[in-house]
Amino acid sequence: MFRVSNRTGLAHGKTPDEVEAQLMRITPLKYLHGAHHWLILHGRYTCLARKPECPRCGIADLCTYSPKTRAIAPAKTSAASGAKSKKR
Ligand code: SF4
Repeated sequence: MFRVSNRTGLAHGKTPDEVEAQLMRITPLKYLHGAHHWLILHGRYTCLARKPECPRCGIADLCTYSPKTRAIAPAKTSAASGAKSKKR
């Protein structure tokens, strides 16, 4: 929750306690239980620590993380690029 909250801009803080306090302030009571799980699951399956999967992220339009990752472009094959293969 600390990483995802800081990354997305949902709550900023230098410690998990600071982030938690902000989240508690801004999260409506009826979503509190769900929000806890959603943030954990989002960090586990989409907003991964080392390489967040921004191209398939459902909240990418809301997230303030500026170095968003991009989809990996398909590798060019020699046939697709029109290059002739060299035989030796
Ligand atoms: S857009 Fe990227 S950095 Fe932002 S929440 Fe989604 S996966 Fe994480």
